[in-house]
Amino acid sequence: MNPSNPETEADEKAPTEAAASPSNFIRDIILEDLKTNQYGGRVQTRFPPEPNGYLHLGHAKSICLNFGLAAEFGGKTNLRFDDTNPSKEETEFVDSIMEDVKWLGFTWDHLFYASDYFDQLYEWAAQLIKAGKAYVDDLTADEMRKSRGTLTEPGQDSPYRNRSVEENLSLFERMRAGEFPDGSRTLRAKVDMASPNLNMRDPVMYRILHAEHHRTGNKWPIYPMYDYAHGESDSIEQVTHSICTLEFEDHRPLYNWFIQQLGIFPSQQIEFDRLNLTYTLLSKRKLLQLVEEGHVSGWNDPRMPTLSGIRRRGYTPEAIRNFCGAIGVSKTNGSIELAMLEHFVREDLNKRSPRVMAVLRPLKVVIDNYPENQVEEMDAVNNPEDRSAGTRKVPFSRVLYIEQDDFREDPPKQYFRLSPRREVRLRYGYFVTCTSVVKDEKGEVVEVHCTYDPQTRGGNSPPDGRKVKSTIHWVSAAHAVDVEVRVYENLFTKEDPNQAEAGQPFTANINPHSLEMPKHSKLEPSLASAVVGGRYQFERLGYFCVDPDSAPGKLVFNRTVALKDTWAKIAKKTGGPK
Ligand code: ATP
Ligand code: MG
Repeated sequence: MNPSNPETEADEKAPTEAAASPSNFIRDIILEDLKTNQYGGRVQTRFPPEPNGYLHLGHAKSICLNFGLAAEFGGKTNLRFDDTNPSKEETEFVDSIMEDVKWLGFTWDHLFYASDYFDQLYEWAAQLIKAGKAYVDDLTADEMRKSRGTLTEPGQDSPYRNRSVEENLSLFERMRAGEFPDGSRTLRAKVDMASPNLNMRDPVMYRILHAEHHRTGNKWPIYPMYDYAHGESDSIEQVTHSICTLEFEDHRPLYNWFIQQLGIFPSQQIEFDRLNLTYTLLSKRKLLQLVEEGHVSGWNDPRMPTLSGIRRRGYTPEAIRNFCGAIGVSKTNGSIELAMLEHFVREDLNKRSPRVMAVLRPLKVVIDNYPENQVEEMDAVNNPEDRSAGTRKVPFSRVLYIEQDDFREDPPKQYFRLSPRREVRLRYGYFVTCTSVVKDEKGEVVEVHCTYDPQTRGGNSPPDGRKVKSTIHWVSAAHAVDVEVRVYENLFTKEDPNQAEAGQPFTANINPHSLEMPKHSKLEPSLASAVVGGRYQFERLGYFCVDPDSAPGKLVFNRTVALKDTWAKIAKKTGGPK
């Protein structure tokens, strides 16, 4: 066996799928900037997560875009933690984010923290005060909201708006010195309370918060707001193209305003559409709720759309990158079919996964004319997609297990698998014909008796050319390895999990069958030595990988994805991306 090893995958530098994918409007902007020598031929992007949760598939889109574009143009990408909100941020999240970016296959040029810039941001704020462009406001949050106006009405100037520079400077220094309680004052940019853009109505730059920060400890009782800290951090790092999601489009005038007032490096903000996926939630806040309320086992529950969740489930970084390349970017928000993501996962796993036989819900089969103590080692192909993967031996004996689903005492039309008097092929084994069944007291079939044809060894047609309509998989009862298998379905029953009935939380849409654990599952013995992270195709069932919950003698497998591919069908019909 040659299971793929997640450790080594992280070390391979990701190929730049973005380069191979068709152009998009962001790439066009960069090309134009290169042509006009806007940034001296430089392309520099950044990925700026807030460390208040684990990364999810939406972040993967942003990561692939930022790193992919910079790589295509020989540029740089920094990882910058946007850690301006001490109350929700933790080092656990910082660590997981770094691990996830590496796992996706990307290497950042520099690692930065917005908190590295707190001193510089403070100085620039003082500079804006001196220029008459910022003031200390004593309004409470509530009063500020009331005086902000609406989309149709202008806001009202704060009574503190015209404080002198000296008074502002002194108050701002005292804010920093920790003299005032939380929420009692703010520093606001002096822009325009009548602006049609609400973000320009004297936005808050600093708030008072006596909270311990994961990196600066208790040094700061004031913290900069996102709109102020973000663009200035971009500028400090000389980011050329600051790519973010569409909800920041209305913040762009403010992004530019700060940069212009300070006369600093003009980073350029460009917005693209957030990834939304059917049957999936991509919001850290809601994912946190799922974790905190115990709906899932943690951030890395294999049903979670977090990168740590899908990694544990067996998705590959290649599949995610290919998916992100295929969905592209646009200027309007939409929703992508989960089936499309699964299609990319299958496509990649199909190439790399060794095939094995496993029976999730076993039904005992006895081959009455097979010698009692005989064991034959049958040759089985490891991967029809990869000849170099070779073959392995699979033991065949008189008592086997097949899937309960592969036998029907009373077969419906079109059911060609095993049933009384029917002959089927046991893959790599023999042709067998069902002769009788044994039932328990409830009338359930608990044992199937068959005869085999010795002339069909390896599952080949006999000399008389007889054919069968079905091939089923099996494991030898005496040789099988017991295994726990976790079969996952969508975590939500609704395409849009946010569409809950009136008065119901989104958690009401959780699929009660999102995790099933069939009993007494069995594996072929070659899997006894499978290692955590190893990925396999269980023939006819799907792709599975070894879960970290495994212990010596107790293997646990996750179903990564089932075999049937609804997206391939949709794509064929609609001519969409394959
Ligand atoms: P969430 O809504 O899940 O909290 P966020 O936008 O607050 O996400 P950040 O940590 O601030 O999360 O995001 C880091 C980067 O990832 C930002 O540039 C953000 O625009 C981008 N990003 C976040 N969610 C998505 C998504 N669904 N699709 C594309 N990009 C995303
Ligand atoms: Mg955010």
